[in-house]
Amino acid sequence: MAIEWDSAGTLTRVIPGAVAGGEPVAAGPVLPGMANVHSHAFQRAMAGLAEFRGHPTDDFWTWREEMYRLVARVDPDDVEAIARYLYIEMLRHGYTAVAEFHYLHHDRDGRPYDDRAEMANRIIAAAGNSGIALTLLPVLYAHGGFGHRPLSPAQKRFASDPAFVISLVEEISAFNLPDPMLRLGVAPHSVRAVDALLLTEMLEAANRFDATMPVHMHVSEQSGEVAECIETHGATPLDWIRDLVAVDDRWCLIHATHLTQIEARSLDRTGTVAGLCPVTEANLGDGTFEFVPWFEARKPWAIGGDSHVSVSPFEELRALEYSQRLRHRRATWRPTKRRRTWRPTCGSAPARAGPRRFPSRWARSSRAGARTWSCSTAATWTSRASRPRSRSASRCSPATPIACATSTWEARSS
Ligand SMILES: [Zn+2]
Repeated sequence: MAIEWDSAGTLTRVIPGAVAGGEPVAAGPVLPGMANVHSHAFQRAMAGLAEFRGHPTDDFWTWREEMYRLVARVDPDDVEAIARYLYIEMLRHGYTAVAEFHYLHHDRDGRPYDDRAEMANRIIAAAGNSGIALTLLPVLYAHGGFGHRPLSPAQKRFASDPAFVISLVEEISAFNLPDPMLRLGVAPHSVRAVDALLLTEMLEAANRFDATMPVHMHVSEQSGEVAECIETHGATPLDWIRDLVAVDDRWCLIHATHLTQIEARSLDRTGTVAGLCPVTEANLGDGTFEFVPWFEARKPWAIGGDSHVSVSPFEELRALEYSQRLRHRRATWRPTKRRRTWRPTCGSAPARAGPRRFPSRWARSSRAGARTWSCSTAATWTSRASRPRSRSASRCSPATPIACATSTWEARSS
């Protein structure tokens, strides 16, 4: 098997049965670069700090208070340093693209920086210096809770409206694009932090700027949030969103933990991605996503590091697999030998997390001018197009298996 990629690091061809010539030969199995579709980079600095119980009822909301204490302290230098270190760690573990759900917009007193894109530019700098592909998602965060609850003092650094978000996108675009390593999208934070008018305005503004840009949103992350949404709006979070805007293949629903099966089935054939963050969700005791029917229906899904308790895609995938084994009380839930290989998010979520690239260590170790690897792996990956920034350039062939569930991979390579 030979693999070729272009000067931008985008895979362009897989040649089955190729005979190794003078090209470098991979020492072992070859995996595609993994996309991390949900990151709050600064939260890496508090990984491990919430691993003890202060009160028997500690949960996501008490963890959030701990996170706010960190928010109150970090400045742009801190954020850039944390993000750069995190992205390097991600690359070392096999991620090659990240979608940064960026809501830390303002100074510690809640006032905008002289350059309103200060923090966003620090994230871009961190990604550029580390070598990871970035989809930057400036976040719309207007309310402290349902019913137009005002932002708490800790949330003032997140304050934004659609005009602010689009102004960030326009400014960053003007200064940075085109760049094959950078893509822009928008992220209404959650049904807690936006109202109907703001959500529709945000989507209209995003569509005017670029009708193809990705849209990420926390959806049904917490059971308490779902209950409060029903109480406030008379609808579940997804139903409320879909009454206002079209949810299609540009959308990535982050967590989706408490999506009902009716809601999940309503997303058939929409191309909407489930952006699962299994380690963070387990770490915070959020619950487990009903993954099996989603997977069996071949709907797109992706993994995210979220709070970055883990920076390994293999730990995320293992946590996802085990969550389903626990949920269904089975040692394994894949039905047949023929379908032992996972096919995660071919074309959808990775496209939202930026272009796919080989891990930089592989690119660095290749000979100058030699862009072909020979290997004998069962895991292959192809790109349909050579233009690195096109949506299709990030897509893998539906016919191409990708083995990336840790258990599957270990079984194959042992
Ligand atoms: Zn998140």
